[in-house]
Formats: sequence, structure tokens, C-alpha cells
Amino acid sequence: MTTIKHLIDGQLLADTGRTTDVFNPSTGEAIHQVPLASRETVQQAIDAAKAAFPAWRNTPPAKRAQVLFRFKQLLEANEQRIVKLISEEHGKTIEDAAGELKRGIENVEYATAAPELLKGEYSRNVGPNIDAWSDFQPIGVVAGITPFNFPAMVPLWMYPLAIACGNTFVLKPSERDPSSTLLIAELFQEAGLPKGVLNVVHGDKEAVDALIEAPEVKALSFVGSTPIAEYIYSEGTRRGKRVQALGGAKNHAVLMPDADLDNAVSALMGAAYGSCGERCMAISVAVCVGDQIADALVAKIVPQIKALKIGAGTSCGLDMGPLVTRAHQQKVTGYVDDGVAAGAQLVVDGRGLKVDGHEKGFFLGGCLFDRVTPDMRIYKEEIFGPVLCIVRVNSLEEAMQLINDHEYGNGTCIFTRDGEAARLFCDEIEVGMVGVNVPLPVPVAYHSFGGWKRSLFGDLHAYGPDGVRFYTKRKAITQRWPQRATHEAAQFAFPSNG
Ligand code: NAD
Repeated sequence: MTTIKHLIDGQLLADTGRTTDVFNPSTGEAIHQVPLASRETVQQAIDAAKAAFPAWRNTPPAKRAQVLFRFKQLLEANEQRIVKLISEEHGKTIEDAAGELKRGIENVEYATAAPELLKGEYSRNVGPNIDAWSDFQPIGVVAGITPFNFPAMVPLWMYPLAIACGNTFVLKPSERDPSSTLLIAELFQEAGLPKGVLNVVHGDKEAVDALIEAPEVKALSFVGSTPIAEYIYSEGTRRGKRVQALGGAKNHAVLMPDADLDNAVSALMGAAYGSCGERCMAISVAVCVGDQIADALVAKIVPQIKALKIGAGTSCGLDMGPLVTRAHQQKVTGYVDDGVAAGAQLVVDGRGLKVDGHEKGFFLGGCLFDRVTPDMRIYKEEIFGPVLCIVRVNSLEEAMQLINDHEYGNGTCIFTRDGEAARLFCDEIEVGMVGVNVPLPVPVAYHSFGGWKRSLFGDLHAYGPDGVRFYTKRKAITQRWPQRATHEAAQFAFPSNG
């Protein structure tokens, strides 16, 4: 069993402090130990980022972009290594891990446009001989704290753009699957990133609190569960930091009576059970408008859930791997027990699934509940597992009210052939990311990602144009160069063009 290292000031550093086990969820075995950084170790990373900032801030954006281009090439060249590490520690299938990495690389591609993105705005002659411009300047040291479910993609939402904008970065990845995250950071180093510009410290609450409390850290990007997002947002903003904290979700798919059912079922299968339901954009509720479409959905989807190919994520050609940890498997199973006790109809029961040769893996088969009602815990709370709940309603208005009343507002979608219904849904649904016949409407890298309500704390969404805004401070400069040196008397009235 190897012990994973921190990456601080361009060096891989061993740690002698606390550690925790990293598991292969397909076998149930501990395969690595990861250090849990002390405050002192985190401070070392912050100091390295602070020291690297002045030179990186003044590195021309086009030169920063060249490093990002090489980084992208290295990510592509090392795809198989990265994907294997993701799958080994997270449990998701190889194909799913490859998809996550590709979406991460798209964020690196976007960040290579730094010279264009940072151009600023210029106005000539705003007054006599006076010109004005707005500049986008880096903030300084930025910290990122990321969840287990996208160990490659979510960190890539953050630091390529932050670094392209001239900031330096300290990343605290999830302690549950840190190896791919670390390898990717090492590749950035290999691409020519100066030491200290990107640092990776592993850890838990102690490391996160050190990042929140350090005055040198000017901004925090967080992605994870809602209670921690809210904690980081309130503690960070209380200290005057800029914070964007993306939280949990409960994503509904509305099935209208006119939906193309075969395609809707395929879409729901992937969106509900892909990655074992461990996606913040996973569909966990199907809202059927009318009993007819609900009955037809159940009839079509049940055999497909029962036929899911489930096994060790690292094998090819599977639909679903295990859940990430034993504790999470028990938590999700507990939700299924709770749904049964609350009176929901468990149409497919994935509990007790055993995978041949992987009897100690953290597996759970796909589960389907019908006749779920909004008062049930399985409806109200994020389960983050392969559990789809069907709620039956009588109209689109009732479906939309249900979604708008939910505390989360990350993603949602509607399956319909009716343009009027789709347009109303897009206009009035209180959710940040909306799909029309698209089950996982995760915005591409040049549109920003973010939910509403308790799915995001902060004003700016992640990556894309909002990411540029988040990782830069705007400075407005007004400059006067008189054509001839003339003396002007003091003006006591407020300057204007009036
Ligand atoms: P988590 O909140 O447990 O952990 C996220 C990060 O916070 C990790 O780095 C972890 O070490 C750290 N952390 C955990 N407990 C902490 C504490 N008490 N104080 C300070 N830091 C702490 O989330 P997770 O289980 O890793 O990921 C799953 C969650 O993330 C789900 O709720 C999912 O919806 C959410 N998520 C949201 C998005 C989004 O874009 N909205 C994307 C991916 C995941």
C-alpha cells in the first residue's frame, strides 16, 4: 500500500501526520493511504502559492496559454493512466471516467483563450483628453476544495481558468479518490508551469479550515454537499473572501404525455444509473404527467434496470460500478429501507446485489420506486445513489410547482414534443440548468455551470464566462493626458460632461 504525497512548490512531499485509507470500491480493499494535512502543511502550500504569484501575475497571458496548450496535450497522451486511476478509486466505469476527463479537458481548452478573455474594455474621450478602460486583474492566491464524484473534471473546472487569469492556486481534493487529481496536477507541472503556481494538499476539515482562515487566500471555489458548501460560503465571506460554493441536488425529469417514450427511457437510464447515481446532475426523480405515461414508463424501464450490467468499474463494457465507500453504500441502502417503510412502492430492489469475484465490493443494484410523495425522505433528500423515484402528477403546472418548491435547484429536464410546454418550462422553472429532451444538461465549457436555491451559494457560476469574472478583479482606470500643459483652476463641482 503506497502513501500518496502532497504537491507543494513543485515538489512531491511525504507527510508524517494523520492519514486515512483510500479504497478500491470494486474489491472493498484499502489500496493507498492519503495524508490529512496539518495546518502547517497547508500554510506551506499557501506560502508557495503566494511566493509564485508576483511572477505569474506578470507572465503574459499568451505565455500562460502556451503552458495550458502543453497541459492539454499531456492530458490526452495520459488518458488511459488517468482514467484507470479514476475508476480504481471512484468505482465508475472506464467509459464514464473517460467522459469525465474529456469534459475536464474542454475547460483547459477554454482557459487557453486567456489572452482573448482578459482583453478588458476601452473607451476613448470619456471627457476632454480623458480615456478610460477596465482591466481584469488576478485576485492572488485562490483555493479549491473538490468532491469525490468527479476527481478529474471538477478540479479542472477551477484551476486551469484561475491560473490562466494569473492567479496561483492551492487545491484540496477529495480524500476518497485523490490519485487521478494528483497525477493531473503533476502533468501541469510537466507542461512547464512554474513551481508554486499550483499546489495540491490532501486533507479533511482541518486542511479546509486552514484555507478558509488564511488571510493570504483571497477566494475559495468549492464543490460538494450543501451543508459544507453553506459552511464554506458563510465562513469565507465573513472573512471578506470571494466564495462560490456549489452544493447538492435533487434533479427532476418531467415526462409529458406526448414524450417520445423510448428515447426518454434511454435518457433516464443513463441519467439515473450512470456513475451509480453519484452525479450532482443525476436524475433522481421522474415526474410523470398522468398515470398513462407513468404506467408506460414503469413497463419499459423495469426490464432495463434489471438488465443493468454491473461490475468492477475497471472492466470495460459495463453500465454501472459500485458506490464509492462502504459507508455510502450503507447510507444509500438506508434510504431504500426508509422509502419502503414510508409506503413508496419499490418496483425494482437492488439491495443485496453480489458481483461474482467482487463479493466485498460496495455494490448496490439499480432501484426504482413508484408512487413516491413529496413528504417522503427519499423525495426530499439527495440520495446520491442508483435510486430513481417516480412521482405522479396531473398537469405540467403541478410538476413545475413541485420542482419550484424543492430546496435544491441544480438541474432539471422535460421530455416532450410540445414546444409551448418546453418554452414555459424553460422560462418559469426555478432551476439553474435546464434540459429539453436532454437529461444531463451540464453546460459546455464556454457556458457557466451552476444551480439555484440551495444548490449554489454565491453570485457567480463555475467556469466559462462566470469563471473569468470570479477569478479576476475589475479595475477601472481613467487617464488624462492634456495636449498642452495648461493650468486649470480647481473644480469643486462633481466632474461631468454636463
Ligand atoms: P462533501 O461535501 O462530503 O466533500 C466535499 C469536499 O469538502 C471534500 O474535499 C471534503 O474533504 C471536504 N469536506 C468534507 N467535510 C468537511 C467539513 N466538515 N468541513 C470542511 N470540509 C469538508 O461532498 P462529497 O461527498 O465529496 O461529494 C458529493 C456531494 O457533492 C453531493 O452532494 C453532490 O451533489 C455534490 N456535488 C455538487 C456538484 C455541483 O456542481 N453542484 C458537483 C459535484 C458534486
